[in-house]
Parts: sequence; structure tokens; C-alpha cells
Amino acid sequence: MTCQPSSQLDSTHYDNWLTAQAKSRHPSAIRALFPLENKPGMISLLAGKPNPETFPFENITVSLKPVSPGAPHPKLEINAGPDLAEALQYTATCGLPRLHKFVSDLQNHVHGRRCEAGEDDFAITITNGSQDAFTKACAALIEQGDYVLIESPVYTGAIPEMTIAGAQFVEIECDEQGMSAEKLAQVMDNWPQDKPRPKLVYTVPTGNNPSGASAGKQRKVDILNLARKHDFLILEDDPYYFLTFDGERVPSYFALEKQLGGERGRVLRLDSMSKVLSSGIRIGWATGPQEIIKAMDLHTSAANLQPNSTSQAIVQALFAHWGIDGLLNHVARVADFYRVKRDAFEGAAAKHMSDIASWVTPTAGMFLWLKLDCDDSNEVIKERAINNGVIALPGVVFYPTPRVTPYTRLSYSMASIEDAEEAFKRLRRTVFEYKGV
Ligand code: PMP
Repeated sequence: MTCQPSSQLDSTHYDNWLTAQAKSRHPSAIRALFPLENKPGMISLLAGKPNPETFPFENITVSLKPVSPGAPHPKLEINAGPDLAEALQYTATCGLPRLHKFVSDLQNHVHGRRCEAGEDDFAITITNGSQDAFTKACAALIEQGDYVLIESPVYTGAIPEMTIAGAQFVEIECDEQGMSAEKLAQVMDNWPQDKPRPKLVYTVPTGNNPSGASAGKQRKVDILNLARKHDFLILEDDPYYFLTFDGERVPSYFALEKQLGGERGRVLRLDSMSKVLSSGIRIGWATGPQEIIKAMDLHTSAANLQPNSTSQAIVQALFAHWGIDGLLNHVARVADFYRVKRDAFEGAAAKHMSDIASWVTPTAGMFLWLKLDCDDSNEVIKERAINNGVIALPGVVFYPTPRVTPYTRLSYSMASIEDAEEAFKRLRRTVFEYKGV
């Protein structure tokens, strides 16, 4: 049964958001004809596909290791045959079909939305990590001079692409749940009539990079309602979604769009396997309105042709082996790993820094956003701390324009408990040195 939601944003609405660059892209002459190659009896002289007889790969074998004691660790075989042939060749722009299908089922399982059979009006595309999706989303949505609502502080890796696309940043203050809905409402309610309105809000809602903050359900509902009221999109960059430590994961913006009822089609969600499988495997995906995903795919077909398909084949084999439950068990183990790291790291911070720094305990992700008892963390962190043998990022890099801030971002993903203890001793010494004590 087809049940197209009556409240899906009209497809012409996206014309207001898509950039001239996105609208001027055309399907690749070759890729547009790829589906016809599968027609029975067709002889294809179409693409410059290298002949697979010349590829020196017979099989791909991946040995799994247990991430926690007792977990199974078999070998995955991607044997000569259609899977390997597809993975080694030029193939679908939006991702290997079987991986695409798994991700579609996963999004349905986790976020309660299904994109097949016309049940919901959105699309999915596999990308080379979520940064790739982010770059293409910026190119599709941000025009020179467009206002973009961002968290303050914001993921430092988001600043360059948005800047290059021509964004004018509107910083929204954050609290312990990330972007403040109250401040966002204030900004939007007072937005001058004669000024072009912001097109989108960019947010990292779980285990925020850098602040560690996670938005609760009500916060997301409030921001989603503001998006509806003021007609802007939500770019939900959520690579730490599966690294939620205690209790249930808060519904994503993408899920809430449906749960709340009313109109859909405002959320472009970015997922990543970097933090739970491997960052080098470069697999992520974007889920959102068909018009935007199509624009991103046209970008891919011109810029990369396709996301790395041997990586996709490995992830596809792994997902087929695990199934959705196995994947969710795995990410639960990974989240547990980082929860233990957080506890140890925070314990060391409490021991060495509590009189000279403050922070909010992160409930997801990898970051502690430390407010040092000094005016300018840059003065402490940039050179002095390095000279004393500890590297962290000064808060200044998480703002689009330079400023003086007492914050610094510490990542607890790698440090052992011994390293954490030593790092905080060194940081403490550095703060006192800076203060001349
Ligand atoms: N967004 C945020 C908020 C991140 O922290 C990161 C990784 N640093 C990315 C995107 C990029 O992740 P990926 O490896 O999936 O490209």
C-alpha cells in the first residue's frame, strides 16, 4: 500500500533552498545509462570500465577481532562473484545496492522511517564518511551570502566548507544540551523583515564536537518547531549518535519529524561509521529529502563518480554477517568502551583540575569541554601546554571568527588512565605557569 504523507513539503519548496550550483548540475551522460546495461540482451560499449580480467584481486578476506572479550571473531570472505565484481568496478553513485538496502532497513529500525515503496518521501546516499556528505550538502544548500544558524561553539571541521560556500554565520549560544532553543527563537523572532532569512541550522545533537553536549527530546522538538515556523532546514550531523552512554538514545530530528506529525522533509541527516567501525574505512550516509539527496548524488557523479566501493563491500559483508541486531550489539559495546574512558578521564580531571577548571559531564561522544580558570585558553594551550608535553585544542578554533575564550577541547578517546592522569598534571602545571604562580 502506498501512503504518501499529505504533509510532505512540496518538491518545489526545495527550489528555495538549493543553490544555483546544485540546480545547474546535470546527470552524468554515462551514469544515467548504467541501468540500461542490465537489460537482457544489451551489449554495452558505454563506459570506460576497466576489464575485470586485469584486476589482480581474487577474493577479499577480512578477519574480525573481538571488540570486547567473548565476542565472536570470524573471517569474512568476499569471494570472486557478483559482490566482488561489483565492488571492484564503477558502480552505483548512491552506493552498492545491498549496502544501500541494509542502511535503508537500519534507518527504518532506528528512526522509524522507511524510504521504499512510497511510504515516505526521502532518499539515502552512501558517502565517503559524513564529512563528504557534509561538503556536498554545503554545496547544495549554501549560496554566497546565505545566513546559516550554527552552534556556538561549532565543529571546527564544519567551518571551512561553509565559509567557502559563502555562509554568513549566525551563532546561537549553547547550554548543557547544546544549541539553545530559546536563543534560537530570540534570534528568529527578531530577524529583520528586510534581511534574507537563514536557510538552515547546522547541529551536532549527540555528544557534540566540541562541547560534549547532547540535546534532549524536548530541546529537539522545540528546535524542529522553530524550523517549521521560520521555514529553515535542519542539517543534523550525528556521527556520535551510537555513542550514547546511559539510557536510551534520544530520537533523532529525522525520527521526530515523523513522530510529531505535521509536515516532513526539513531534516537532512548525516550518519557515520567512523566512530563505531573505522574512521579510515570512510563510510557514512546522508538521509533526507529526495531533491537534496539527488543534488548531492549529482555532485558525487561529477566529483568522485561513486563512494569507495571496496570499502562498501567490506562493510556490506560485515553488516550481512551481523544483521541489524548484531550491528546494534556492536555499537553498544563501543559506547560502553567510551563510557569507561569518560569515567576514567573525568575522574582524573576531578583529581587534578577541579579547583582550576569546570565542565559538564558528557553523556555521549568523545569530548570534554573544559573551562579553564583563565581568560584565554589559547595562551595556555597553544604553546605552553605543548612545551610541557600535552596537546589539546584551544576553544578559539571552534568559532568562525577569532575570539578570547577560556575553553579547551580534550578528547578522551585514546588516552589510557595513566596518560589521562599525567596529562592533567601537565595541564595543571601549565595553568599555574601561565598565571605566574
Ligand atoms: N561531523 C562531526 C561533528 C565530526 O566530529 C566528524 C569527525 N571529526 C565528522 C563530521 C566527520 O566524520 P567522518 O569521518 O564520518 O567523515
